Amino acid sequence: MRIALTGTPGTGKTTVAALLPYAVIDINGLVKAGLSLGRDESRDCLEADMNGLERRLRELDTDQIAVLEGHFSHHFAEWAIVLRLSPDQLRQRLEARGYRPEKVRENLEAEALDVILVEAVEHCPRVDEIDTTGKTASEVAAAIVRIVEGKAASPPGQVDWLEDFFDSG
Ligand code: ADP
Ligand code: MG
Repeated sequence: MRIALTGTPGTGKTTVAALLPYAVIDINGLVKAGLSLGRDESRDCLEADMNGLERRLRELDTDQIAVLEGHFSHHFAEWAIVLRLSPDQLRQRLEARGYRPEKVRENLEAEALDVILVEAVEHCPRVDEIDTTGKTASEVAAAIVRIVEGKAASPPGQVDWLEDFFDSG
């Protein structure tokens, strides 16, 4: 069974996935390894081969839980867990990564406007959302295990970054 671990770049997907007791499939890794349609020059990234990815994932499917990790993994699963992070902290992480200012801005806007969450809700019958702000990666991983094991549910609506922004502004 596929479970997507998704969220805006910098929210901690790769770090947290490495702590989970499940098989992890790195969607960006598959794209870099050849499941791409070439370079999208305007966005300075590889354009994913969505049909090729779906075919590859079918080949990899087993009865075991497989966590698909990546910021568009929710396109390939019926269940998505969306990591969220306050835009203030996300900015620090993306700047520390050396992202160009336009790319930092694009990702902060996406996080503030719930872009990935909305996509996940449109695509996946089940979506859980975790606010990782102030949590360690192990705490986030433990929260995911509880959700996957059916001991907790964490439906969308945990965060409202715009409300935080307007309250403080
Ligand atoms: P993503 O895969 O979602 O783009 P990463 O897992 O690469 O994000 O994490 C981005 C950065 O944030 C890394 O430097 C990572 O060490 C750090 N990080 C990830 N999760 C946490 C956390 N819960 N607390 C503090 N730092 C974290
Ligand atoms: Mg990552």
